[in-house]
Formats: sequence, C-alpha cells, structure tokens
Amino acid sequence: MMKMTIRASARTIAQVLLNLSIAVLSAAQTSPSASAPAKPADDKPALRAFAAIHPIDVHVHVFKTDPAFQKMLQHLHVKLLNILVMDDTLSYRKQLQPQIDDAQALARSSRGHIALCTTFDPYKFESRSFTTDAIQQIDRDFAHGAIAVKIWKNIGMEIKNSSGQYIMADDPKFEPIYQDIASHGKTLMTHQAEPDVAWGPPDPSDPSWSYYQENPRWYVANQPGFPSKQEILEARDQVLSDNPQLRMVGVHLGSMERDLDNIASHLDKYPNFAIDTAARMEYLMLMPPGKVRAFLIKYQDRVLYGTDLDLPPDAKFPDALKDWQSTYERDWKFLATAETLTVEGQQVHGLSLPHRVLQKIFRRNAIRWIPGL
Ligand SMILES: [Zn+2]
Repeated sequence: MMKMTIRASARTIAQVLLNLSIAVLSAAQTSPSASAPAKPADDKPALRAFAAIHPIDVHVHVFKTDPAFQKMLQHLHVKLLNILVMDDTLSYRKQLQPQIDDAQALARSSRGHIALCTTFDPYKFESRSFTTDAIQQIDRDFAHGAIAVKIWKNIGMEIKNSSGQYIMADDPKFEPIYQDIASHGKTLMTHQAEPDVAWGPPDPSDPSWSYYQENPRWYVANQPGFPSKQEILEARDQVLSDNPQLRMVGVHLGSMERDLDNIASHLDKYPNFAIDTAARMEYLMLMPPGKVRAFLIKYQDRVLYGTDLDLPPDAKFPDALKDWQSTYERDWKFLATAETLTVEGQQVHGLSLPHRVLQKIFRRNAIRWIPGL
C-alpha cells in the first residue's frame, strides 16, 4: 500500500533517468516497436540472475492480468503473494467478496504464479457477529486456496469502536481470528502503523515523504490525541506474545524501517516473527551498508523479499510492467551484486550477499514462513 518508491512523482530525477534509459534499452534490444512487451529475463544479467533463483515476491497487489504480465512472471520464474486489503476510500477496495472472487480467479489463471493472502472486513468491527463472520469467511477462503491473512493499518489508525477509541490489533475481538489462522497453519501478515515520518516533522529526505503528500490522511503528526506509533506496535507485539503458535510476517520491515536494532530485538524476542522488505528497500539502501549486510546475514532466516508492486484495475500494459522489472532489477543489484546504484540522489553500493543468503531471502524463507507458496 505504500507507493512511494515506484510512483513517478516520488522518484528522484536520477531514478527517472535510470528508468528511462532502461525503457529505451529494453525497446532497442527486444523489438523494433516500442510498444511490444519487453522480454525481461532475456536482456538483463541482473534479471537473469534473479530469475535463476526462482524468486518469490511475498507482497504485491494485483487486480488484473494480461498476456504480457503472465509472460513476465514466466520469464522471471517469479511467484507472487497477492495481498487483499479493505480500504473504504478506494472503490475497488471497499467491498470484500468481489475482491476475493477476482483474486481467486486471477490465481487460478496464473499457472501457479500467483497465490492469495486474504483479509477480513474490519469496518464491520461493531457488528455483533463480527468475529464469527470473519472466521467463517477466512475458513472459506482457506478452503479455496488462500494461504495467509492480512491486517492493515486501518486497525490502529482509522477504525474506531463505539466508544470513539481507535481499535488496536490486540483487541479481544480479533483474538479468536488469530487462533483460527494459527490452527489452520496459515500465516498472518501485519501492516501496523506507518513509517516514523508520519508522526514527525515534514522531511522531504525521507523515502516515504512523497507518499504523505499524496495521501495526507495518513500523516498524523498534527492530529492531537492520535495513537503513538509505539502504542500501535505494542498492540501488534502483544498479538505475537499471546499467540506463539501463530506465524506473523511484519510487512514493511515490521514498520521499524529506520531501526535495525529494534527489528533485531523483535526477531530475538519473538521466534514466530519475520519481516518483509516491501516498499522499504530504500531505507536499507540508505543505511550504512556494513550494518545492513551484517543484519541480513545474522537474520538470514527471518527476512522475506517483498516489493508492494501493484497492478491496479486501470493499469495499462505493457507500460505497467516497467516498474516491476526495474524494481526487481534494482533490488537484485543491491542485495546480490557489488554494483553502485543511485538512490534518492545518493550513491549506494550493492551488498554482495552470499548466494545461500540470497536463496533464503528471495525464496526459501517465503516457503517456510508462508506454507503453500
Ligand atoms: Zn502493500
């Protein structure tokens, strides 16, 4: 749900130029026609190496498909976890059942390249049958192949109970839902809170800042009485300690995007906790590389590769695929090679992680933490 790294308006000039040159190169190398679908795995060493590992991207939002998209998935040997979210401000995310129906059809048509992470409707929180309805629906989705469940930041930051309090992830009404997910051996994906900058002063140097310019409702620094980030994440942590049998993946670096030490202490404290990298790779890229490298090697079993790439209902092919290919290429270069990248106007050196660590981050951890992938 965080679009800042891949939206044109959020890119630095350097990133735009890089993408432009990638697009021009792709067009030149693959076809005389600029509108023909690119052949991603054929023309770029980084994408070839990425494809060779049979990567899994555990965090995408895909609402449609296209022969060019399916072809890209097959060329890259990539598998996706398609995550559903209820968002009452977007017409195509307002209703749950149509999203589930569409996502299941999409998964069925993907020849094994797309799996489904379902969700439940937290806006029905005050309904008397909320908990049992949610469990029934989740169980139905599991029976039809869903392999995980997502909770989103609207829990903690948007939805209020009848007393006017923001509902938190550790609310007793949610507990039977978590127990149900654990009893089915499925995984809970949690996007709780937001990057620090949402609570802080305006900071154009923060990779997420442009997101709050485009989505001011999630910028809460000026809202008196709003829950603190710590309060929201403590509720999430309570779910972890109350449910040791529940596997939880904290998406977006577990919302601790500026603090590897804090992530590390969470991973040490909660053996049922892992993180994904979705839409937060730039934070890793802008940290001291030695520290990031040591962290990823030490916690090589706990970090899942995710992007937050999306294909909204109005996506236009094949242009929509350029973000996908350039993101996969950039992330591979950062983690797997010693190449120099330009990120937010800064020179960033690739981490050259050992191959066995790359295999875990890009594939094996996903299979272990989200069985069914
Ligand atoms: Zn997302």
